[in-house]
Amino acid sequence: MRMPFEFATAGHIVVGGGRAAELPEILAGLGSRVLVCTGANPARHAGLLAGLGLPAAVFPVAAEPTAELARVGVAAAREHGADAVAAIGGGSVNDLGKAVAMLLGNGGDPLDYLEVVGAGRRITRPAVPCVAVPTTAGTGAEVTANAVLASPAHRLKASLRSPLMIPRVALVDPQLTVSCPPPVTAASGLDALTQCLEPFVSTRANPLTDGLAREGLRRAGAGLRAAYADGSDLAARADMSTCSLLGGIALANAKLGAVHGLAGVIGGTADVPHGMACAALLAPVIDANVRALRSARPGSPALYRYTEAARLLTGRPAASIEDGLAWIRETNTMLAVPGLGTFGVRPQDADDVAAKAAGSSSMRGNPVALSHGDLRAVLLQAL
Ligand SMILES: [Zn+2]
Repeated sequence: MRMPFEFATAGHIVVGGGRAAELPEILAGLGSRVLVCTGANPARHAGLLAGLGLPAAVFPVAAEPTAELARVGVAAAREHGADAVAAIGGGSVNDLGKAVAMLLGNGGDPLDYLEVVGAGRRITRPAVPCVAVPTTAGTGAEVTANAVLASPAHRLKASLRSPLMIPRVALVDPQLTVSCPPPVTAASGLDALTQCLEPFVSTRANPLTDGLAREGLRRAGAGLRAAYADGSDLAARADMSTCSLLGGIALANAKLGAVHGLAGVIGGTADVPHGMACAALLAPVIDANVRALRSARPGSPALYRYTEAARLLTGRPAASIEDGLAWIRETNTMLAVPGLGTFGVRPQDADDVAAKAAGSSSMRGNPVALSHGDLRAVLLQAL
């Protein structure tokens, strides 16, 4: 176990069916005018938007967040005189809201702070208060310290990142996810599962993230298939909203691994929903990691972690790593997860993706070093 460690999380996490109704009360304590980021169709949240209490300007996030979209959002917030941000939507909407809140608090341009493709300047001042209200159960963006922005010019996605970007309040209401269509439930749910598993086996795991990841994996095992089979199953939706929340806190504090290292690169080059990329890569990465660990470090604690994860996911106390892998593959089939080839990823891209992924920040959390050949083989299996 890695010691010492740090642990950062949101100021206030509010969870429960129907609790989105508390948004006006929460906002009233945080600001006087609010910019509300939503998905492309704000009318989906007409009920919530009608009773916000504060003067509100609505900013629909109709496309994947980019540095340019963050600039437009900041301009809209300034024009409205917003001193608080609410983000009601999926991961993209929450990330954009977090980026705008950070830029309102720190000034400057997104590229001043963006990692990899920007100047990577340190974020030193608090973001303006941001309330994150997820409407999917997947990214955990309501509690993470980064916002992913795409840079179409670089064909890359990069993050704005600081503990100061963790939303002031995460308002997690599983009822908001009931209207998610099955493909979104599948992609976001498998992302949530992956975001509990990768921190659990990460080189940066710590005792606090372990507890969260274990509970998140158990919830994914209980709720993922059921939420997909019947979107109105509130107990399953609550399991998955909780899994997503736990995964977000875990990954913000213990990092991720090769699934996210590869998915990040693929997301910059092909039009693949992030969760679908994770879903297709998950079993091949576990397989590659377990093989590499068994040959290089047969006593590695990560192998015990994979066994424990298999038991939590399957609900069977004697399950092996192979049983866990079979459960994940079967889940992918049940949830109609397509291969990456469906999204235009080609075998000839494998070398390039493997090379770029090797240098990604997620890869540093992977429990074992995977060779270029390993990463290439993983990608080919995920096609
Ligand atoms: Zn993810």
